Amino acid sequence: MPICTACGEKNPDNTPRCIKCGVALGHQARAKVDAQRATVAKTVRIIFTVIVVVLVLLAIKPAYEAAGTAYFRYRLNTVKEAAIKSCGGPITETSMGYQKDQFDKCMSTDETLQTAQTNFDNFTHASKS
Ligand SMILES: [Zn+2]
Repeated sequence: MPICTACGEKNPDNTPRCIKCGVALGHQARAKVDAQRATVAKTVRIIFTVIVVVLVLLAIKPAYEAAGTAYFRYRLNTVKEAAIKSCGGPITETSMGYQKDQFDKCMSTDETLQTAQTNFDNFTHASKS
């Protein structure tokens, strides 16, 4: 029972034209509807793909920044702890002034610590801009 694509009238089988509005039924009409459906489906797929790509791109940057910041912060903290130990720290309230000066000098000349700090700063500044 072919349904007219123009008016929705239910026509008897093997009717060449709609009994209500006269639009051609059958293969031509069906092919036209199929082509329209295919175009709509294709458009929907393209829009869906674009939305997914945009969402992925939007999600990737914060995830990358969060992971990178966490990594470089962890690395910096680890290196800092090691530097504090190797410089005879940590400095406490009972430490003498010269001990504090030595400690500060030792910490400020620790190349591993400087590198870790630079890496952390570079990453966090780069991801902010
Ligand atoms: Zn019709």
